[in-house]
Amino acid sequence: MTVGWHFDNTYSKLPKSFLENIKPVPVKDPKLVILNKNLAEQLNLDFSKFSEIDLAKIFSGNNLPDGSETIAQAYAGHQFGHFTMLGDGRAVMLGEHLDKDQKRYDIQFKGSGRTSFSRSGDGRAVLGPMLREYIISEAMHALNIPTTRSLAVVSTGEEVIREQMLPGAILTRVASSHIRVGTFQYIAATQNPDDLKTLFNYTIERHYPEIKQSETKALDLLNLLMKKQCELVINWMRVGFIHGVMNTDNMTVSGETIDYGPCAFMDQYHPQTVFSSIDQHGRYSYNNQPRITKWNLARFAECIIPLIDKDEQKAISIATETINNFEKLYEEKWLNMMRDKLGLFSEDKEDKNLIFELLTWMENNKADFTNTFCNLMEIQSIKDPIYQNEEYLNWKTKWKKRLEKNNTDKEKYLELMRSVNPIFIPRNHKVEEALKDASEGNLETLNKLLEVIKDPYKDNNMLEEYQKPMPSKNGKYQTFCGT
Ligand code: AMP
Ligand code: MG
Repeated sequence: MTVGWHFDNTYSKLPKSFLENIKPVPVKDPKLVILNKNLAEQLNLDFSKFSEIDLAKIFSGNNLPDGSETIAQAYAGHQFGHFTMLGDGRAVMLGEHLDKDQKRYDIQFKGSGRTSFSRSGDGRAVLGPMLREYIISEAMHALNIPTTRSLAVVSTGEEVIREQMLPGAILTRVASSHIRVGTFQYIAATQNPDDLKTLFNYTIERHYPEIKQSETKALDLLNLLMKKQCELVINWMRVGFIHGVMNTDNMTVSGETIDYGPCAFMDQYHPQTVFSSIDQHGRYSYNNQPRITKWNLARFAECIIPLIDKDEQKAISIATETINNFEKLYEEKWLNMMRDKLGLFSEDKEDKNLIFELLTWMENNKADFTNTFCNLMEIQSIKDPIYQNEEYLNWKTKWKKRLEKNNTDKEKYLELMRSVNPIFIPRNHKVEEALKDASEGNLETLNKLLEVIKDPYKDNNMLEEYQKPMPSKNGKYQTFCGT
């Protein structure tokens, strides 16, 4: 009886300085909390013949499958601007699995025990934050945003010491790879030119084979990563997602969103929104995300300077010029994304003003980010009296005038709007409610929420309660680093 693993491990074959060979630390009494059957199917894995007990052994790492080669990866990172040597301190990669189209996925256990990179940490993770990562990453996937995925969560039967004792858990994370900007920073910091070459070629082979034959591979890689990360952050901006901890170790070279810790979706529109309790200066606030993306890309560029040109000064000036294109690239793409949100075809010189007028109105009136676009799409279940506001109605008149320039029928622009404006996001209070019930052993609320966020763009007037922003009586929503 097999699950169908098709391991083909390549990262574990890289030089010893890249990783540690280590097994997950077995846990006492693993229990399966949730298994992502859709994702399993997509990966050509079949868990249907296994008992819950066996599944718990598989997803806790207590039973390691044939062909796995478990490793912890080394990486570094700028955390809130400060450089630190890090590495997988509480995660172990099981291996690289190939699906039937030979697409490669890292399968990783998060919360699997101490490694040589654990520093003072216990190597463990807590049930609530692991389920939270499961919910938000699956929501992001359904929103068509590149992201790591979540295959399963098991509880470990062990308690984890935080401010209080909490139930331990392990998340099985699936990623197109776990190579981070911080991986390049780690290798660059070791100052071994051969290792840098190895990581560089490995990354290109795995993620950007189209530039393999190029004469300017390093510059091409920088440009490709910049494009990917620019698109990613614009996607975040599109749905009001705030990552919360955009350290360079939490930025992948694949362009997938990774590490769902203190992230959250914004309700009321405010450009400086921050949820994370530790982000006191708003470094990772909603509107700062593109700026930080550029900052992180500059850190990446620094690592590959020796590969851009043998002449260091020349390489620096080429890299600087490239990175400085970020704003222009971002602005153009952001504007187009906002045009899509408003159903505007082609370009009009007044578009930018029209967009900023709406955003200013939203900010001044504390309008809900998601629901404002739902109102524009005439979603009937959005009944907030705020949308009778005179200023808003005046703006709408201007917008309608601009829509006339589309020269298309209404259905055409609504179709565009429906493809980019979610109706359902994982609302903060709904996520909290699901986690609370799950912690008490009731998974119904969680499963219902997962059902809703699976189809975020489809109107469903039976699900009105999932559209409402968090009640203001709940106070300001705060998130904590998901340990
Ligand atoms: P994160 O905030 O999850 O991006 O983690 C930042 C760094 O801290 C990574 O190197 C993690 O492996 C490490 N880390 C986080 N939590 C723990 C823990 N409980 N035990 C050991 N290392 C941890
Ligand atoms: Mg991280």
